[in-house]
Amino acid sequence: MSEHKRILVKFSGEALAGDSGFGIENSVLKYIACEIKELVKNEIEVGIVIGGGNIIRGVTASKDGLIKRTSGDHMGMLATVINAIAMREALESLGLEARVQSAITMEAFCETYIMLRAQRHLDKGRVVIFAAGTGNTFFTTDTSAVLRAVEMQAQMIVKATKVDGVYDKDPKKFKDAKFLNSLSYDEALKEDIKVMDATAIALAKDNALPIVVCNMFNSGNLLKIVQDNSGICSVVRN
Ligand code: UDP
Repeated sequence: MSEHKRILVKFSGEALAGDSGFGIENSVLKYIACEIKELVKNEIEVGIVIGGGNIIRGVTASKDGLIKRTSGDHMGMLATVINAIAMREALESLGLEARVQSAITMEAFCETYIMLRAQRHLDKGRVVIFAAGTGNTFFTTDTSAVLRAVEMQAQMIVKATKVDGVYDKDPKKFKDAKFLNSLSYDEALKEDIKVMDATAIALAKDNALPIVVCNMFNSGNLLKIVQDNSGICSVVRN
């Protein structure tokens, strides 16, 4: 592995939808691509996982029983491929080299996930977008993001959200909510703080992978966090 910093950034699909709440807003796509470009320019190796919640989630698709949960999850995984292809286009429009690797083979559209090949892309400074989650039903893209981060030997996973980080209670409901600069995996699990789902946190804990939660709409913040720890964020670690 190269000596460069390597990170994995996880965005929810909803983030891509912008104000409309559905589908892909090109302005958001472009904004995220610009933030990623800043990282790459500074020789940071970047993997990306994007959720699919802006299009469909298995749980929602199957809630009235017409569609089976497993089929809903297949649809959700396909949604992540749509987002990944869109992100690849946005990154390439800025002159970056990007590859989509899908956990489910879709050879006409993108590469199939091959761990060593993905590592080689990252070594060469290409952005790799990991699509189709883990390839298994009943998982989330949070879990697949942690899994890929561990497999890629990333130094951290960044959960890019719409808030600055983690609070001890909902800051929208409680004026006295306290911002937490750091917390342990066990605290994140015990307090049911919605950093990531429990499976993802447990996998990060098992592999001592720090989870950094930050606001993706605070331009330049991501670079500050990765470069010299000066950005605004909460860190979940041991
Ligand atoms: N999904 C799945 N297996 C995985 C990852 C995702 O079945 O390993 C499905 C699941 O239905 C999920 C959907 O894909 O709801 C979209 O992912 P997610 O809900 O994590 O997206 P986000 O909330 O981050 O936008």
